[in-house]
Amino acid sequence: MDKSDDKYVKAPLGMKDIFPDEKLLWKEMENAAREEFEIAGYHEIRTPVFEDTRLFVRSIGETTDIVEKEMYTFGDTAGSTITLRPENTAPVMRAYLEYELFKTKKFRKFYYIGPMFRKERPQAGRLRQFHQMGIEAIGSYDPLLDVETIKVATRVYDRLGLAGYVVKVNTIGCEKCRPGYRAILKEELSKYKEELCDLCKVRIDRNVFRVLDCKNKKCKEIRQKVSNTEDHTCNECRDHFKTVKGAFEDINLEYTIDPHLVRGLDYYTKTVYEITHPAMGARDTICAGGRYDNLISDIGGPPTGAVGFAAGMEASMIALINTRDKKHKSQSDASPLSPDVYIVSISAEDRNHCFKLLNELRQSGISVDMDYESRTPKAQMKVANKVNSRFTIIMGPDEIEKGVIKLKDMQTGDETFSEDTEKIVRIVKGNK
Ligand code: ATP
Ligand code: MG
Repeated sequence: MDKSDDKYVKAPLGMKDIFPDEKLLWKEMENAAREEFEIAGYHEIRTPVFEDTRLFVRSIGETTDIVEKEMYTFGDTAGSTITLRPENTAPVMRAYLEYELFKTKKFRKFYYIGPMFRKERPQAGRLRQFHQMGIEAIGSYDPLLDVETIKVATRVYDRLGLAGYVVKVNTIGCEKCRPGYRAILKEELSKYKEELCDLCKVRIDRNVFRVLDCKNKKCKEIRQKVSNTEDHTCNECRDHFKTVKGAFEDINLEYTIDPHLVRGLDYYTKTVYEITHPAMGARDTICAGGRYDNLISDIGGPPTGAVGFAAGMEASMIALINTRDKKHKSQSDASPLSPDVYIVSISAEDRNHCFKLLNELRQSGISVDMDYESRTPKAQMKVANKVNSRFTIIMGPDEIEKGVIKLKDMQTGDETFSEDTEKIVRIVKGNK
């Protein structure tokens, strides 16, 4: 949609409005996600859009991009600060602990769909308010769940008709084996220090795993030269990963191992994964997740295994728009914004009758519209054509006097005259 010049107040930088025509695809994506999530036993949780800042600092990690520079943080009246959620895993875990859900039923499966906020540099495909849909399975260390969550994500994409996505998996170890790998990585990357980007030069000391996550081309090349995470994991992590790989084979889910894959948030342990799409360019991740067995204890809870993902909805949509096959395209082109019936009134006096009929028809579940802009009957007919309603009802003094409804099928030209509103409802519904 075109934007006006500077005459009006604008939305803040990096924030985007979603208009009804775009909303069709949003609705389709949300519906596909909800159905697949619920089939797999995940149920919706809605947490507030802001939380105590400490929640994100403790869970995501102080030396991550998100906490260091991307959070919208404000002072609140109590002298503490609140932060617009940059992601929704920590808030879900916060709710799990706050209500001590583990006491009644330890194992829980949740999903969420909603806006997230990160003060990133505005650039193609990056927003400051964007949307994620995700699932979290909490209260189990079972490696099969890692694969279940990935399969749920791919089922959503399959249902939407997204072709060409790639599932990438890795293990990043646990608190026992990670310190050893961290030291090795530090040593190996130090040899390439001069070739790394300025940020990564600092990252070597501050949080060396972030170097593996850098989007810079040179840094990406260097990451191929250092040791794999998998080679440095402990037996427990290796066994866990072995079961994960076996389960991929069992359910014929195609995947590739990316031995240097890490995620931008500190809370991950063992399995990490991404779903990428070639339509996206350099930032090609559309869905990301993994296991985070320490997150709940990091924020004060009992040791609790958990795994989940977050899919970027705008990113998924870009991938989808670029690659959707014809069958799916035609589905979203059939304009569900059109009313089933458009009522045309011949004179101003007839409008109350039209309004009454409109409400009766809506009561029966039919979408109906009429003119609210004082148009002539001819102009109303034009609107009926433009909104592409399947039927029109023309209401004039004659019809009102005789107590009949004149329904015209705009596709076939058939006309029905009837005193029986039920009959009109049946005809319209029969053609929906
Ligand atoms: P990335 O490396 O892509 O920045 P991340 O590690 O910072 O991701 P995650 O929370 O794992 O963050 O993101 C999951 C997905 O959410 C991303 O792959 C992307 O599709 C989407 N996403 C993250 N930040 C933004 C943003 N600012 N605008 C639009 N989508 C985003
Ligand atoms: Mg990021």
